[in-house]
Amino acid sequence: MTRRPYIVGNWKMHGTRAMLSEARAIDRAAQRHMKVEVALAPPYTLIHPIHREAEQIGVGAQDCHHAEGGAHTGDISAAMIADAGAKFVILGHSERRTAHGETDSRVQAKAESALAAGLRIIMCCGESAETRESGNAVAFVKAQLRGSLPAFEQLLGELGDRLTVAYEPIWAIGTGTAATTDDIAEMHAAIRSLLVELYGEEQGNDVRIIYGGSVKPENATAIFAVPNVGGALVGGASLTADTFMGIALAASEPFDV
Ligand code: PEP
Repeated sequence: MTRRPYIVGNWKMHGTRAMLSEARAIDRAAQRHMKVEVALAPPYTLIHPIHREAEQIGVGAQDCHHAEGGAHTGDISAAMIADAGAKFVILGHSERRTAHGETDSRVQAKAESALAAGLRIIMCCGESAETRESGNAVAFVKAQLRGSLPAFEQLLGELGDRLTVAYEPIWAIGTGTAATTDDIAEMHAAIRSLLVELYGEEQGNDVRIIYGGSVKPENATAIFAVPNVGGALVGGASLTADTFMGIALAASEPFDV
């Protein structure tokens, strides 16, 4: 199945209710780009208000706890974010792996919990600058994904609907310098072959692999032309409708010619 390009905004810890007007503008613009699937992951506090108003965009969360509930002060479960209107959750983002010490097995437990709550997942992976310089980026990312992806049985029959992989080299996030198209091509091909190995030819090929790390309207067209790139996870440039939808426009262009 050919899936629509998936353009997901990660607002990180940005956004109070004053940002709802920006989410509205993104939703309105997304209605003019139906060949692209547009989604936003705002802070938890904005999930419900955006979900309540959105007509076109998907709304998701940036993380969830792995447990169903209990004595976890300050945490939030997958069922809670689903109840607030989230349809997906970003897991294993490098900022969580680094700042919150999230291990591959912890990320995997979150993924299993999110799937059990009916959510789609965007599984992040990516190497540090040191790992890339040492020449071990591909091996590192493949091992990270093997340790973080959920058990196959949970995804059987609906892999492409429930799972997206986001390749986000840490050194490209928020730096203004995206990975080169050659590096993206090499990594996305390696991730594709891992998905086929883990989930079989048909289902492994059905999973979108999106790229994240300083994607902007100016570099989006070149990135989307790379084989195995099925969209983008966008941080800074998703905070305004103009730049975010500039990226969505670049993703819809191959369909317009
Ligand atoms: C991100 O943090 O997921 C990200 C890709 O950020 P940016 O687009 O700002 O590099």
